[in-house]
Amino acid sequence: MAAKLLLLFAICRLIITVGLTLNPTDFAIDGQLTVDAHDIKSASVDFGKMTRSEPLAVLHPSSAADVANLLKLAYESVHGFAVSARGHGHSINGQSQTENGVVVKMSGGGGGGGRRTRTTPPAVPLVSEKLLYVDVWGGELWIDVLRSTLKYGLAPKSWTDYLYLSVGGTLSNAGISGQAFNHGPQISNVHEMDVVTGRGDVLTCSPDQNPELFHAVLGGLGQFGIITRARIALEPSPHMVRWIRVLYSNFSAFTHDQEYLISLHDQPQSQKFDYIEGFVIVDEGLINNWRSSFFSPNNPVKIASLGAGAGNVLYCLEITKNYYHGSNLEAIDQEVEALLKKLNYIPASMFTTDLPYVDFLDRVHTAELKLRSKGLWEVPHPWLNLFVPKSRIGDFDKGVFKGILGNKTSGPILIYPMNKNKWDERSSVVTPNEEVFYLVALLRSALENGEETLTLKHLSEENRKILKFCKESKIEVKQYLPHYTTQQEWMDHYGDKWPQIYSQKMEFDPRYILATGQRIFEPSF
Ligand code: FAD
Repeated sequence: MAAKLLLLFAICRLIITVGLTLNPTDFAIDGQLTVDAHDIKSASVDFGKMTRSEPLAVLHPSSAADVANLLKLAYESVHGFAVSARGHGHSINGQSQTENGVVVKMSGGGGGGGRRTRTTPPAVPLVSEKLLYVDVWGGELWIDVLRSTLKYGLAPKSWTDYLYLSVGGTLSNAGISGQAFNHGPQISNVHEMDVVTGRGDVLTCSPDQNPELFHAVLGGLGQFGIITRARIALEPSPHMVRWIRVLYSNFSAFTHDQEYLISLHDQPQSQKFDYIEGFVIVDEGLINNWRSSFFSPNNPVKIASLGAGAGNVLYCLEITKNYYHGSNLEAIDQEVEALLKKLNYIPASMFTTDLPYVDFLDRVHTAELKLRSKGLWEVPHPWLNLFVPKSRIGDFDKGVFKGILGNKTSGPILIYPMNKNKWDERSSVVTPNEEVFYLVALLRSALENGEETLTLKHLSEENRKILKFCKESKIEVKQYLPHYTTQQEWMDHYGDKWPQIYSQKMEFDPRYILATGQRIFEPSF
């Protein structure tokens, strides 16, 4: 009874605020539409902690039909209202927020650690051992996908570095990590999806069925529909990982080796690594290197002794080799050695550890817990993620790592190359126009602790300087997890893809109802 009253209240609020012409009792959902203060507050902020928009109401769906009913209502009502899916809210710039509509909370807390909402996830992951895939609810967190598939000895192939992100959220961007050179981004590892479009239609799509919607939604920034189910490709899960880090002081030796290693993507498994990333070390300290947890005091080599600090920049190549309980460890040692022999890192700078595959995949969560305990997680995050073409990565190093950043970075800086041929050009993502491009991720945390260089203002200004430097130097970067505020900037971002994006928007969300927090299309309500 109380739930019914809350639903009526939420709908009345929509009626009054956006002028819905509907009898509240006509709106059938099995989940919860609520204006509960806690729900509204949590849907108003994200990981970035830099923007705040209060929705009119929050929907906790209990099925795809709930999502469809809400979107039909928004589409068919006279004035319309916005509907934004929210996965785990780990965007930086308000991408899953909306102030003139309803946020659909697709993830229920999850991961065993978060606050569970009153509705449980609408569908549990369903694994096909024979066909090597798992069907998951769009709001499922990757950590929970992993836990479900491991029961069958299986795991997804392509990952993000952090697993407390939703399937729908990462598939709306790309989903990348050190496996992308080999398996492509997560969006290259999806067989099929159920999507609720901005017209309220529930459509199954795949490369063969409704292919236009399928490709539009992958990397589509939530613009074309809400993913309620995704079918993810699986492989037999490795059991253990040999995790190796080596250091470079010479940038071109570092990138040469990274590019060499990713060029082996078509080789047999025994002749390549399974994961290739890297990061820049400008200075030390927890906030700067929370992703580099195994440079611990137990390590035999102090990074500082290799030349970090005092304005010097070091580069760390991070690679892994997966193996199984029954693997011949001597053979693994030999495979690793053969690959390392070809590299030109600083000889005394190798760090190695062996750990369970799951612990490796969940490594950033360990760092998160450390930062949380020090009050350094719930802070503003002015992150900047760029895809940089291979031909200009050296100029980027000189201008940004050795120039604009000085020796204060306020967070890890990831840098690793990917092969464009592992990305499907038909998806909505845009990447640089070269066969190999780098992700450069400046994962910054703003701290108001008196140090001017760590403030949000300073770091945001530095981000602007980096983008300006790239523009003036004609380095044709593309933002990953892009953030723009005008349609002209979005048109520039999409370049030749803009007509495709525009016509698909007109087809699947002609009233501009979906994901207005991305600020690509301005709705009239
Ligand atoms: P949200 O922030 O909730 O939503 C993001 C966008 O997707 C919004 O526009 C939203 O409307 C839309 N959306 C959400 N769910 C759906 C759905 N079901 N259907 C359609 N649209 C939907 N990214 C990487 O690629 N690799 C990484 O290694 C990586 N590491 C990260 C580490 C941390 C600590 C953080 C905070 C982020 C990281 N990211 C990484 C970025 C992350 O992939 C994106 O921010 C992603 O959008 C977060 O997922 P989410 O579930 O929180 O999405």
